[in-house]
Amino acid sequence: MKRKHGLTPLQRIERYRVSRGECWEVTLSPNKVYPLIKINGRHEAVHRVAYESLVGPIPTGMYVLHHCDNPRCHRPEHLYVGTLQDNMRDMHSRGRWVKPKRRAPEKAILALHAKGYSQVEIAAQVNFSQPCVSSVLRAHGVSRGRHTSFGKHKAWITRKKNHVPSSSG
Ligand SMILES: [Zn+2]
Repeated sequence: MKRKHGLTPLQRIERYRVSRGECWEVTLSPNKVYPLIKINGRHEAVHRVAYESLVGPIPTGMYVLHHCDNPRCHRPEHLYVGTLQDNMRDMHSRGRWVKPKRRAPEKAILALHAKGYSQVEIAAQVNFSQPCVSSVLRAHGVSRGRHTSFGKHKAWITRKKNHVPSSSG
């Protein structure tokens, strides 16, 4: 385990700081939208830590948002505190809002499910992830073969149940 030699969180952020245009970024968590830094064993967002160190405490439930629209930036002049609603509004106003991902083909998923395909098989067929298929089925009350309002689903469930070898006794 690496010792941090008593550096403050801000000093540690400064070690990783790189300038990018007007913004201050860090080389930490290159694959994450918000770079993280570990403080007392917890991962904290760098821009929040920078804000608290350089500007002041963040009120409970508030978010540290970016004027510069660069989530990797932690320059205090580019940060402000706001609500999640503020963030959404800003995203819309800057055109950063991207359409939600393509919708799962619910009808196809339900049809395949009715035919007795497993979630994994359905996922492969409709080219969506298994959790996605699962959530569609859950939304329609047919997930995990528990509840169903259709008789044919019941038949499938029974088939699945019988497939599991039962213990003797
Ligand atoms: Zn910035």
